[in-house]
Amino acid sequence: MRASRYFVPTLREVPAEAELTSHRLLLRAGFIRKESAGVYVYLPLGWRVIRKIEQIVREETDRIGGIELFMPALVPQELLDETGRSGLDILFKLRDRHQRPFTLGFTHEEIITDIVRNFVSSYRQMPLLLYQIQTKFRDEPRPRGGVIRAREFIMYDAYSFDTDHEALERVYQALRRAYFRMFERMGLPTIIVDAEAGAIGGGSNEEYMIVADGGEDKVLQCDSCGYGANAERCELPDPALTPPVVDAIPPMEQVATPNARTVEEVTAFLNTTADRLVKTLLMRVDGAPVAALVRGDRELNPYKLMHALDGESVEMMDAETIEQITKAPVGFAGPVGLPADLPILADHELRGLQDFITGANAEDAHLVHVCWGRDFTEPRWADLRVAQAGDRCARCADGILREVRGIEVGHIFQLGTKYSEAMGAQFTDGEGNLHPIIMGCYGLGVSRCLAAIVEVHHDKDGIRFPISVAPFEVVLILVNSEDEAQRAVAERLYEQFSQAGFEVFYDDRDERSGVKFKDADLIGIPIQVVVGRGVQEGQVEVRLRADKTPEQVPIEEAMARVGELRQSLYHALRPSEG
Ligand code: ATP
Ligand code: MG
Repeated sequence: MRASRYFVPTLREVPAEAELTSHRLLLRAGFIRKESAGVYVYLPLGWRVIRKIEQIVREETDRIGGIELFMPALVPQELLDETGRSGLDILFKLRDRHQRPFTLGFTHEEIITDIVRNFVSSYRQMPLLLYQIQTKFRDEPRPRGGVIRAREFIMYDAYSFDTDHEALERVYQALRRAYFRMFERMGLPTIIVDAEAGAIGGGSNEEYMIVADGGEDKVLQCDSCGYGANAERCELPDPALTPPVVDAIPPMEQVATPNARTVEEVTAFLNTTADRLVKTLLMRVDGAPVAALVRGDRELNPYKLMHALDGESVEMMDAETIEQITKAPVGFAGPVGLPADLPILADHELRGLQDFITGANAEDAHLVHVCWGRDFTEPRWADLRVAQAGDRCARCADGILREVRGIEVGHIFQLGTKYSEAMGAQFTDGEGNLHPIIMGCYGLGVSRCLAAIVEVHHDKDGIRFPISVAPFEVVLILVNSEDEAQRAVAERLYEQFSQAGFEVFYDDRDERSGVKFKDADLIGIPIQVVVGRGVQEGQVEVRLRADKTPEQVPIEEAMARVGELRQSLYHALRPSEG
């Protein structure tokens, strides 16, 4: 490709909202362009990278027996009605000319299950692994980081169909390994962590994370056994605290706390510390009201509350209901005097805490010297709080959790029968008995990977693409386009490289050499061939974008040398297992 004929709309001024390095670099280097919030154009260079990522995930899925198809982005809403997902606020909704409601696919479990329930009816037709690479639409509340969190984005999604849980486990493990291979081939170092299923639901699931300071996800990792989990999920051990003796604790007492609602306000007013306070959060799990107690300096993990009650959804209670239940304005809820039929769950850390402070269920008032078991019924104990750095590991004896930021690039789920039961996708076994099909689903953010790759591979001058996903493998820089000798050599090399199957980006523009070098470093093509003054001595310069150590190579050996470098760069990215 000749740069003079190509289309690279670079940006000199990157908008201030672009905080992440990858976002800034992709805009500056002309890989993406924003059309509106969370809606992006993949410009030619960006699109080439996307196509390479797609090809890698295709090859690795085909390798384990996956079959590619392509589903519609327009999803009839009635399919989502079957699984109860048509009300999700992330959906883009629209109607056709007959007023028939549609959504733009945010993931495709319903469509694939619809296909399978119509065409798969016997155990003989499974195992089956289908996948697609397609545009997804999600009306994200906070689009961010360019293509990292977009509202229209490209996803790879695979779906497995099996007759039993052992087969699901096998295909899940095959995909788990395939994902590692995909990310290694892209040059993305990932860790895999336990995760929360979110709107997808189902059984156990894991996320692939890139560790990056700019990541939105909080990930906890055990320094001893390697257990890793998204903070949304991370289990904590029961500290098995023994309750202090209640006899010695003064009677409970109501104190006035005018206008003090938050933990900070109450502790300041009562001159105490947040760990003496118990927060009461009124929530709904599957619509039913419940009170959750955590220490004042802790954060409730709503998903843990949901799991403790075997629920499928969790939300905060609305202010009006809170006021009805507590008979007080929001901010003064406490466990004492709540309706007897309201379940109270408490984080198991509170078992060791007596003589604490809580809201009084009365305006501008708190209770001090509160004891569970004495002043209100012993609550149900559960792991309810958000894990944080320094907490003990739930999986091993002496591990301590540390915290890193992560970008989620993939997420794999053992769905089980959630969708097949809701939508009636069944098969008959050898004896003619009917069973729901056992499913898994596997998502990978293709367009998010573009950004993640740049987030991992860059320096102060620009992007440093791994060769497997670089828009081109080699950039050929003609230093002085007016120098006939240089031009002749560059043209000849361009011809030879192209003939030999190298992907070459030939910078033949009439630009100053400084501009060309800067642009080459910014765009990040991994191998640079510089045709400059050395031509007089029959030499060109070959160097890697990554280390920039120049090497003088005789013109006639340039292709062989570049070939070696290319091979070693691919070699370094070959997957290590399976
Ligand atoms: P997140 O927690 O980041 O919102 P999710 O868990 O809702 O993502 P999944 O449904 O698991 O996302 O989607 C599979 C993959 O698609 C994710 O691992 C991620 O790489 C990618 N992805 C999800 N949402 C977006 C988005 N808004 N923009 C770009 N990629 C996304
Ligand atoms: Mg996810």
